[in-house]
Amino acid sequence: MTNIVILTGAGISAESGIATFRSSTPRWDDRALEALCSAEGFAADRYKAHDLYDARRAQLAQVEPNAAHLALARLERHWQRENRGEFTLITQNIDNLHERAGSRQVLHMHGELDAARCESCHRSFPWSGSLAVREDCPACDEPALRPDVVLFGEAPYHRQRSEELSARANLFIAIGTSATVHPAAGLVKHARSNRAITMEVNLRHSDSPDFRRFFEGPATREVPALVDYLTIESGAEG
Ligand code: NAD
Repeated sequence: MTNIVILTGAGISAESGIATFRSSTPRWDDRALEALCSAEGFAADRYKAHDLYDARRAQLAQVEPNAAHLALARLERHWQRENRGEFTLITQNIDNLHERAGSRQVLHMHGELDAARCESCHRSFPWSGSLAVREDCPACDEPALRPDVVLFGEAPYHRQRSEELSARANLFIAIGTSATVHPAAGLVKHARSNRAITMEVNLRHSDSPDFRRFFEGPATREVPALVDYLTIESGAEG
């Protein structure tokens, strides 16, 4: 059995037209913009912050999953059908392109653009369209809905589960992530503790010594080729 953990970052969605953290227009690393993505900045200017997430939510309708998202969904189907071991897809992305490509089980460590969360009862709801500041919660009626995304300074979702699954992995593949945002960036160490084979797919090496294989190039080229190899290797096409 081979337990696989895949960790994706903004780079896998770049070729779908969603800008990465460090190369957007307007740039995500503009100080003002970065501040809005922090818990403090969000609280200081909720109107601007909601506008920002409304625009990103609206952008989802303009973009499509790319060949890398589709290949990972194919790998998941294959792994489950052939009973090859656990398959886990962990993403730092807040877009919904993995789900739209057909991935079934996706752990979103940083939340989801197409969901809203109540700051009062803490429930989360699927959300499309714009989200007004202090919109009423459909469950508790408090005017306390906000985008269900994890802001800088807030605790990521699924941390313990992601670490446990990584510590059981035999193969760990990070795709399109700069490996700088923790705790996601530390998952590879949990995989290494299990002597997992660790691979990185990126335009440039993250310089992390924890990755033993590096596939240099765009995700839409490298990921389908890697998935072909893994599915042919294990005996049947997915
Ligand atoms: P990052 O912007 O820090 O790094 C992106 C990485 O992707 C870089 O290492 C870059 O070299 C690589 N990359 C860019 N284009 C690529 C391509 N075509 N193929 C392969 N690799 C490519 O992103 P991160 O590591 O995910 O962390 C930053 C944070 O920004 C995360 O918290 C994430 O939630 C958030 N974010 C999410 C989205 C999204 O949901 N699509 C977009 C921007 C930022």
